[in-house]
Amino acid sequence: MHEKTYRGIVASPGIVIGRAYLLDRRKVVVAGRRIEEVSIKDEVVRFKKAVELSKAQIEDLKKRISKGLGKSHLYILDTHIMLLEDKMLIDGAIKRIKESYVNAEGALKETISAISLKFDMIEDDYLRGRKHDVEQVGERILRNLVGRKLESLADIKDEAVIIAHDLAPTDTLMMRKDKILGFATDAGSRTSHTAILARSLGIPAAVGLENITAAVKTGDVVILDGSHGVVIIDPDEETFLDYLKKQRKYKYFEKELEKLKTLPAETLDGHVVHLQGNIELPEEVASVEDHGGAGIGLYRTEFLFINRPNHPTEEEHYNAYRHVAEKALPHEVVIRTLDVGGDKIGLSREFEKEANPALGLRAIRFCLKKRDIFKTQLRGILRATVHGNIKILVPMISGLTELQETKKIIEEVKAELKSDGKAFNEHVEVGIMIEIPSAAMTADLLAKEASFFSVGTNDLIQYTLAIDRQNEHVAYMYEPLEPAVLRLLRRVSDVALEARIPLAMCGEMAGDPLYAAILIGMGFQYLSMNVASISWVKRVIRSVRMQDAVELASLVMQQPTAALARKTAEDFMEERFPDLAAEL
Ligand code: PEP
Ligand code: MG
Repeated sequence: MHEKTYRGIVASPGIVIGRAYLLDRRKVVVAGRRIEEVSIKDEVVRFKKAVELSKAQIEDLKKRISKGLGKSHLYILDTHIMLLEDKMLIDGAIKRIKESYVNAEGALKETISAISLKFDMIEDDYLRGRKHDVEQVGERILRNLVGRKLESLADIKDEAVIIAHDLAPTDTLMMRKDKILGFATDAGSRTSHTAILARSLGIPAAVGLENITAAVKTGDVVILDGSHGVVIIDPDEETFLDYLKKQRKYKYFEKELEKLKTLPAETLDGHVVHLQGNIELPEEVASVEDHGGAGIGLYRTEFLFINRPNHPTEEEHYNAYRHVAEKALPHEVVIRTLDVGGDKIGLSREFEKEANPALGLRAIRFCLKKRDIFKTQLRGILRATVHGNIKILVPMISGLTELQETKKIIEEVKAELKSDGKAFNEHVEVGIMIEIPSAAMTADLLAKEASFFSVGTNDLIQYTLAIDRQNEHVAYMYEPLEPAVLRLLRRVSDVALEARIPLAMCGEMAGDPLYAAILIGMGFQYLSMNVASISWVKRVIRSVRMQDAVELASLVMQQPTAALARKTAEDFMEERFPDLAAEL
């Protein structure tokens, strides 16, 4: 067999060599079939066995996950166990086998369809959302009926490179770093949530490979080069040895960078840049300091809402934020309020039907509509402010009216807390994400009401260039150095400098060492990124002079195309950091 090479999109750097594990997520197709009266008893027994097996699998999964990262997400599995004892679902299917003379698969499918229809008619968003759970449980029983197990990443026993069509945020949560060497998916882009999570877990990954699942079988030897978005299946000896060498070099380089951990992010001429970490889970806060970061520049709070039968309570919010704030001290934590929709989790079935979710009821728009959810989170954040150095960051602000409306709600919540006798920091800073072109264009107006700006390039690039950040077919157009993007960044930095408000960047652009000198040259004082990138960016910052960075930024800004801007940046890197440039 000859090696096959697939090229996709860089998601998370690093090289791994190992056996592939093909995660099968296709729905099982089964046919309902009539059965004879004499077979009914056997069919019911077969069905009950599949249900019991499903229960045993989930119990087993629970045991294994409780040791890992996904501990706080166990109740989704409890919900599934409850459903496996549910009268409507289980007894309903048995009744159908007996009364309609259909096989177990057919009876189960009909029962699920009937239940789904009922769910669709329910007003309550939360209950309607449970339809997913019924369908997932149904899929598990069906697979057990036909002898095809529903796999979970928690099931993986030996070290493997995961190959899948796509991974859900919950899959990534179940990943055990000691077993998952890396992953490669058909779908996705550099800024899709799965890619961001891979970087924060430090797992090499390539996405957007389009049809890698069709080319790989479980057990195949694969090389995954996350730094270049490449997967090689059944490598020849020469390639294999070549990559072993590359892998060793990369690891050595990473080790060298580790030495920078305790050193400040300061330019040669003494300008201090704040390098911070982006986190998604409270447990990740320790890893920011471990990687040499100073504080959390973006705490995405969506994960508090994921995989659970209800919305988090004020106490849950408070406890999570308090934990992070205390752990991060003496550094700050920038807590971003809920950003649902778009490529993130959906909280409400009603809004999941949107034709263009990225342009839909996302983030602050959702929160302004669902004020009870928003206010509960704000109460939790505000109460946590007395335990650390917390700032509030509002996502997806499109203009002044929205910001004013949001601030009004924050003031309302403060007044309510006061009358409840709850303590909070009256002067907590409220900043905004600049991630919609309209916000960048009106930055001068927004600067009057926002305590700071944090630029979210993942969305800013998506909306400026009109490219869906999730769509692998247009991922080649994702280019932070497009003149349109650079001009917006410049505009925002000019405004922030003049208004004397802090300027941060927390999109993925902030974590790429190629852009580090340009960004500080433009005036960014805070760069927040996935923890694995901190030392790479620090390395660049510690080796430049501010004046050179300013000149580079201006030179890059003058380029008429992204390709020329990139060449300018690359030439600068090659001249200054030949060893680092070789690893990029
Ligand atoms: C961004 O859009 O750049 C950002 C940091 O937010 P998210 O990736 O969570 O949308
Ligand atoms: Mg965003």
